[in-house]
Amino acid sequence: MGHSKITSSASADRQLRLDGWGFVGEGFAASSELLAWLTERLGRPQPFGSFDPAGAEAPAPATLPDLGCATSIESLDRLAHARGRGFPDLVRLRSGTVPRLPDAVARPVDDRELEAVLTAGNREGLRIIPWGGGTSVTGGVNPPTDAAPVVTVDLAGFSGLEHLDEVSGLATLGAGTTGPALEAALQAKGWTLGHFPQSWELSTLGGWIATRSAGQESLGMGRIEDLVAGLDLTAPAGRLSLPALPASAAGPDLRQLVLGSEGRFGVITRAALRVRPLADCQRVEAVLVPDWASGVAASRALVQGDVPLQLLRLSDASETQVAMTVGLGRSRFAPLVRGWLKLRGIGDQACLMLLGASGSHRHAETTLEAARTVTRPHGTVWLGAGPGRHWLADRFRHPYLRDGLFDVGFGTETLETAVPWSGVDRLYRTVGEALSQPSGDGEAPTPVLCHLSHPYRDGVSLYFTFFFRCPQDPDLAVARWAEMKRRANDAIQAAGGTLSHHHGIGAWHAPWLPQETGDDGWRVLRQVAKELDPHGILNPHVLLDRTDRLEE
Ligand SMILES: Cc1cc2nc3c(=O)[nH]c(=O)nc-3n(C[C@H](O)[C@H](O)[C@H](O)COP(=O)(O)OP(=O)(O)OC[C@H]3O[C@@H](n4cnc5c(N)ncnc54)[C@H](O)[C@@H]3O)c2cc1C
Repeated sequence: MGHSKITSSASADRQLRLDGWGFVGEGFAASSELLAWLTERLGRPQPFGSFDPAGAEAPAPATLPDLGCATSIESLDRLAHARGRGFPDLVRLRSGTVPRLPDAVARPVDDRELEAVLTAGNREGLRIIPWGGGTSVTGGVNPPTDAAPVVTVDLAGFSGLEHLDEVSGLATLGAGTTGPALEAALQAKGWTLGHFPQSWELSTLGGWIATRSAGQESLGMGRIEDLVAGLDLTAPAGRLSLPALPASAAGPDLRQLVLGSEGRFGVITRAALRVRPLADCQRVEAVLVPDWASGVAASRALVQGDVPLQLLRLSDASETQVAMTVGLGRSRFAPLVRGWLKLRGIGDQACLMLLGASGSHRHAETTLEAARTVTRPHGTVWLGAGPGRHWLADRFRHPYLRDGLFDVGFGTETLETAVPWSGVDRLYRTVGEALSQPSGDGEAPTPVLCHLSHPYRDGVSLYFTFFFRCPQDPDLAVARWAEMKRRANDAIQAAGGTLSHHHGIGAWHAPWLPQETGDDGWRVLRQVAKELDPHGILNPHVLLDRTDRLEE
């Protein structure tokens, strides 16, 4: 069963923010409790400035040939397509130190126009960067500093519902369709995709496929690769048109080769998706467990016991502490609640779980009842639906919090991986230790929070959030972040985790990829890229480039 109605306030008249998340005038303020928690651990920060691009001079673009479609060389348009949304992107955008802008933004609206751009790219040796929503957190859409003329191809022209096969539950949509537009089109007809990454309001179908994205409800709905039944890809040397099929034994599955190809093998233009009828209800219940080990054991018991949950998320003790500090804050009930929990065996090491179920009211109720039974031996205390309702209401607003912290001078970044259940403890410890080292000389240890989500029968994803004082010098801020990122990538690989469970490889993880694929596997991927893009014009800086670009 699908998902109950999700709406977004995103509309055409909202203006995208250039140097932060989301839309101008919207936000999610950091509470005084969170700021106090961070200041206590890291010391007082220095506010990080904000740069006004309006009066700034952009470097003149390279002279380009006719690209065969609407093309803009307007400075603000180039700046708006210059960076993704990782920490260094925000530093560069906020400080006016973006090292490279695309020379033009091309906007093809159909296959013929897209082919014209790629033909010009082949002929003139251009670098072409496909752009979906620009929410990459791996440097995937950033023009490399050492590249020939760069054209960013905004795929917004490939938007909307093209076909709905209600008998098969298959919907074909353009790759540039954003999350809210996709759900609005489907929900108007009683269907849903149910793919809700936290970046849902801005990211696009093509970006999800290109990066092998996972939505927050992947446990019930599947990851994007489970939802894609067929797709079209236009490459500089040809086109793949892979029909929607329920399953096939006709050799290796080329769809799986396109999933995660990050614009290196071609431009995804449309996809046929497995959609479901909208559900009657969605419930998310909050549960406390005494500590991380019981929480991990309870999570594993739930998925290996086949309890049909839609969502499962377990915060470690630090993340729970922050949630409780922010949530309970100075409430006069806080001591009472803590006392009551202590009586139930829940103390300082408590970990918060969110468990979600959807479908008919009866199905959701039965599922949560089964979850109660399975988790009871692990010492759970059920808190009801209140915290879950808040989480659901705010989940797409959380990314704004990063900008609020930036304003006062705290940097924050997230990274994620996945590992078999037997490796969870080691990875949690190894990556936690690597990240918790001070971010620079004279700095305090870095506070690290973690949650477990996207569980599978054989393993799970771990998602880390860390905080540091952001130096006012943008190069130093990026250099410190880069050092933490290198340490984390090394630690993840040393502990047997994957470089990414859902953010992808982009430019920032690429030097570490050969260790995961093996040299022969990496060479196979290079050969595929060579076949589809012989002149290396599409995203040559991502996925298969070993250059360390963390500090660009
Ligand atoms: C606050 C925040 C929260 C996030 N939460 C999640 C999450 O919960 N789950 C998750 O999976 N990810 C998450 N991400 C990461 C990001 O949103 C995903 O990687 C997303 O899939 C990118 O989609 P996009 O349309 O923005 O792609 P872009 O950022 O525009 O592009 C990403 C990469 O794909 C390529 N590309 C884009 N469109 C196409 C196309 N049509 N054809 C070929 N290549 C293309 C680009 O060149 C680039 O290399 C988050 C990011 C942020 C900033």
